[in-house]
Order: sequence, then structure tokens, then C-alpha cells
Amino acid sequence: MLQNLFDIPVQKLRGVSSQKAGELHALGVSSVGDLLEYYPFRYEDYRIRTLQEMKDGEKVTVQGTVTTLASLQRYGRTARLLCRVTVEGMLITAVWFNRAFLKDQLTIGREITLTGKWDQRRRQLTVAESEFPDRGAAKTGTLQPVYSVGGSLTQAWMRKKIGEALDQYGDRIPELLPEELLERHRLVPRREAVLRLHRPENTTAGQEGRRRMVYEELFLFELKLQAYRAASRKQPDGIAHPISSDEIRSFVAALPFELTESQKKVINEIAYDMKRPYAMNRLLQGDVGSGKTVVSAVALYASVRAGYQGALMVPTEILAEQHARSLGKLFEPYGIQVGLLTGSLTDRKRKDILASLQMGLTDIVIGTHALIQDDVVFRKLGLVVTDEQHRFGVNQRSILRKKGLHPDVLAMTATPIPRTLAITVFGDMDVSTIRERPKGRQPVKTYWVKHDMMDRVLSLIRKEAELGRQTFFICPLIEESEKLDVQNAIDLHAQLRQALPELAIGLLHGRMSSAEKEEAMATFAAGSTNVLVSTTVIEVGVDVPNATLMIVMDAERFGLSQLHQLRGRVGRSDLPSYCVLIADPKSENGQERMKAMTDTDDGFEIARRDLELRGPGEFFGTKQSGVPEFRVANLMEDFETLEQARDDAAELTAKPEFWTSSSYAGLRDYLHREALFAGEPLD
Ligand code: ADP
Ligand code: MG
Repeated sequence: MLQNLFDIPVQKLRGVSSQKAGELHALGVSSVGDLLEYYPFRYEDYRIRTLQEMKDGEKVTVQGTVTTLASLQRYGRTARLLCRVTVEGMLITAVWFNRAFLKDQLTIGREITLTGKWDQRRRQLTVAESEFPDRGAAKTGTLQPVYSVGGSLTQAWMRKKIGEALDQYGDRIPELLPEELLERHRLVPRREAVLRLHRPENTTAGQEGRRRMVYEELFLFELKLQAYRAASRKQPDGIAHPISSDEIRSFVAALPFELTESQKKVINEIAYDMKRPYAMNRLLQGDVGSGKTVVSAVALYASVRAGYQGALMVPTEILAEQHARSLGKLFEPYGIQVGLLTGSLTDRKRKDILASLQMGLTDIVIGTHALIQDDVVFRKLGLVVTDEQHRFGVNQRSILRKKGLHPDVLAMTATPIPRTLAITVFGDMDVSTIRERPKGRQPVKTYWVKHDMMDRVLSLIRKEAELGRQTFFICPLIEESEKLDVQNAIDLHAQLRQALPELAIGLLHGRMSSAEKEEAMATFAAGSTNVLVSTTVIEVGVDVPNATLMIVMDAERFGLSQLHQLRGRVGRSDLPSYCVLIADPKSENGQERMKAMTDTDDGFEIARRDLELRGPGEFFGTKQSGVPEFRVANLMEDFETLEQARDDAAELTAKPEFWTSSSYAGLRDYLHREALFAGEPLD
């Protein structure tokens, strides 16, 4: 059994002292099982090449015959050994440094393999390693694994120990994957794959070994998520909202616009989940401006109509206020009470809303992190919605959820996560995606300009103002200092007032009081200011459909997804909209981002490129470090395998036999070992 190998300490292997064991432990290796799974990160190629294939400067291995006696030259401390070797009937020169002891072994006519750097012009090989076939030549012709080592653990030692472990225990490596999956994907058995990763006979064999382990790793990961999902589905302890389709239909009919097909589809998916007695756990994805708010409004409405309370958590106060305003208006005719709970409420207001929530007088509460404080108590929480959910940590979401008894959960995100990454991070969630924008929306025309084109930018602002439209002007982001951020905004505001005296120019930044911020935002939303100079506080969610021009100063300081979010503040009506990125053309890798922005305004494509530029960890930021680290798999390269693994895991866990049949006992053991059923499930 696999477990057995993990129960055998590495000290059991010959020559592993307790000091060595300690150093192995630091590498995450404590058992023989761990050691067998300590895979190389690359290989050194000792396969024999022909002279014809060899390129100048390459590291190569050749096989030949010693043809002349070696001559030894000494320069100070350096000893240089030189000898002619016949390779494929041609003479080449072999040079060793500080290997004087080899001189006597280089007898004429002896076979030798040489590995080193090839100098094409001089037909000379600077030898790093050589072997004599009459003494075994163990490396010749092979791909040698290269492990990550350190301390007193050398590469040679590691190879030797892993080799011994393979010889001694290799045939005890158990299979973990069901036969049907091995066959379906033509995967080599586990034992074979481990062997091939450490000792590939050739590149293809190594790749096949890797392919198997990548699949296994991703499959087991997905299996965990899916098993949790399946297990939670078996527990009908959620809320079965009694939802009346007619009521929903008439609510939708009263909206000021016709829903898109995509919106209708996701509303159906959500309503279906809410009706069932299983807790909903659904991610709603949709590009900026795709109309997620109204979808959540329908769900909140349904929950309230069914006799429950709803909560909507958002990352910023500005957004909380905006949602409270717009949803308040929307729900007013139905007598549904909407409350606002943010950190900047006065004590009295806060007390009022808390009491009213506890008594069930407030039907829907919209708020920031303030919602997850201990003293926030609901009477009957039925639905939890998080907007811009990627801004929240896993814990924050689950704290809010625990304020009810298995409430339904809807997490919305406007940072379109590439499907595959969504699968890895939210694999235990069902995903609904809004794929289209509301009718009549035009793509936001995006330009990348230099700082010296400010005059043109100003005339664009004037032109939009003459047409009665509004402009966001975003100040450079100074990551290290909020104070500088704010100063920038104040300076830019002053400059613009001077340059555009005929226009009303507002200002918004993080150091303003909540009341001031709300005032600035409300004046802009009402159309009374032409231009709003702002720091990135408006980055997410802000919805002012009459704004048609977004200008970003020093755009190279922003990440790609952030720029796309900012651009998403315009193009929210059928008016033509523009985004102008003022960026330093020489900025390092800023160019790629600007190019991506001008190339496409498809959020999914942007997210893909962002991921490419930054890698998954950075992409999600530390809060979302739910992105797992894999041993063998690489999310960038192994996207397709991940999708496949997910489908397979879903299919398998949906089969009743999976939970009972002895053929799956190994996998069920694995799940138990991972403490899946004992601990807190993944959120
Ligand atoms: P996001 O998905 O970025 O949160 P919002 O929900 O803020 O987008 O919607 C963007 C704008 O589009 C809002 O002004 C909203 O009222 C409007 N909207 C949403 N759905 C539709 C629709 N089906 N037709 C027209 N406008 C819509
Ligand atoms: Mg939104």
C-alpha cells in the first residue's frame, strides 16, 4: 500500500544518517514514499550525438576511441590534459582541466565517452565528465535526473539514494487511479510513471511518465473538490426557497430594460438552486458591465419573497452606497426594506440597522466588511451575495455565510477568471457565466498616448462635455503611499480646473470623509460634475452610465486586470465610449499591457494575458492564494489536462459505486487521509 511507503522513514535506507534525514526533512522528505515522489526538475542529457548534429557551444556527449597519448600541461595551479580522440572516423581534441589523474587511463585504443562543451571551429571538446564503457559507463546514453538539493546533500548522493529507493521499494508503489481512467487516457501505471520520471529511458518515456503524474495530481485535486461538492449535495440541510416563477417574471417585467439571454439563463440556474433544499454555492462570472447587479437583485428579491433576509457584501463603501441607492429604488415599490451597513455609520445608525436586522425588519442589507462583525445578527438569513468576490478572502465569505443556517451563496466576480483557473480555485462551486453585454453596447475605443499629448486629451474631455457626457480621470497609483496618491489627485484636480475653467470638476480620494466621498460620487452620478478626478477608489463596480470617457494617468503603473476594471466604468450605455491610457512608452513590460488593452476589450482575453504576464499566484493576489501549488503540474501548460481531470472527477463522484465499491477504496482512502470529511470544507 502507498501508505506503507509513507510510513517508512528515510533512515531505513542505507547510508541515511540522522543528519542527512534532517536535511531531507527540510526538503519535505521524511519517508521513503516522499523520496520516491521527490521528482527531478530537469534532466541532463548524456545521450550520444553524432558530429553532424552538434552545434557550436552546445553541451554534448560523444563516444570515441583514444587515439594519441595524452599530454599534460601545467599553468600555475591549472593542469590541462589534452588528447586526440577518434569519433566517427574523425579526429577531435579532448581537453580536461585539473584531471591529471586521468592521464594514465587514457591508453591508446580505449573506448571513451566524453561529455562537455563543443567548439565547432577548433573541433575541440572541453570535457566536463568522461566515462569508460569497459568500466560500465553508467551515465552514457541516459537522461540523468537533476534534483533540487542543498546543504550536504549532493546531486550524486540524491540520485544514488533515490535510485536505491526505487530498486528496493519501487514495485510496492500502488496504483491510485481506476483502470477505466488509465485506459481512457492511455496513462502508464503509477509505478512505471514514477520510475520514468526518475530514470527516463528517452524523452518520450519521460514525457509519458510526467503526463501520467500531471493527470494524477490534477485529478486528485479535482476529486477533493468534487467529492466535497457531491457530499454537500447529499445533505438536504439547505434552504428550499419556495420561489414562485410568476412573481419573478413580473419583477423582471417591471425592470427598466429587457434582460439579456445570458442574464435570463443565469437567473434560471440560480433560482433552480435556491428552490432546492441543498445549500447553493454558485459563482457568477461576467465581464465588467455585463449586468450582474440586476441578477443578484432578482435572487435577493426571490429570497425576501420566500420569507428570508438577504445580504450583499461589497469591497468598498462607495460601491455599498451605490448598490444601496439603486437596489433601494428598485425594491421600494415592493415594500422591501434595504439597509446599509458600512464602517463609517454613526453609532446610532449602526445600532438601528443591527436591531432592525435582528428583528427581521430589514429585508436586505448591503455593506462592506462591516457585515461580518460579530454583533451583526440576522433573524433569518437566506441568501448571501458577495460582489467582486475576488476581493474577499475565503474566511470573510465563510464568516458571512455562518450568520445563517446553511444559506444559499452567490459569489459574483467581474474579474473574469480564465475558466480553468476558476475550476481550480472554485472547483467546488457551480459556475454561471454571463457571456454577453446588454444590447446596444459598443466596445470601448481604447488609445494609448504619451504624456506630451495632454492637449489632445483635454480637447477630448471638452468634446464629451459639450455632448453632455462625463469623464473619469484616474490618477497614478502610488502603491507605497496613500498620501502621495491623494496628493496626486489634489494636484491633478487643481491643474484640470485651470486648464478647463468652463467645466465642473469633482474630486474623490481615500482621505476624504465618507460623507465627502458620497457627496462627490452622488454629484457626479447626478451629472452635475463633468469630470471626476479620482484615485483608484472607483476601480470596482461604480456605475454611471452617462460617463463615456475614462482617462488613466501613468497607466503603466496599473496591472492589466485593474486597467480593464477601470475601463469598465465607461461603455455602460449605448453611447460611444473611450478609454485613454496615458503611459510612458519606455516603461518596462508596460508596453505589453498597453498593447493588450488596445487589442481587445474582452475581459476573458485580458484575464488570460494578465495570467500569462503575471502567473497565477500574482494574478490572484495573496488574498486569493487559494491557487494551489502543484508538484508536477504547471497550470499554464496543463490547462487542458486540468479540465479533463475535472470532468473525470465529476463523473466519477456522481456514480453511486464510487462511494461503495471496493475498486474505489484507494481513492476514498485518499480523501479520508486528506481529512476532507473531517475538517472545514473548502469554501
Ligand atoms: P457589472 O456586471 O459590471 O456589475 P452592472 O450590474 O453594474 O454591471 O450593470 C451595468 C449597467 O448596465 C447598469 O447601469 C445596469 O443598470 C445596466 N444593465 C444591466 N442589465 C441590462 C440590460 N439587460 N439591458 C440594459 N442595461 C442593463
Ligand atoms: Mg458590479
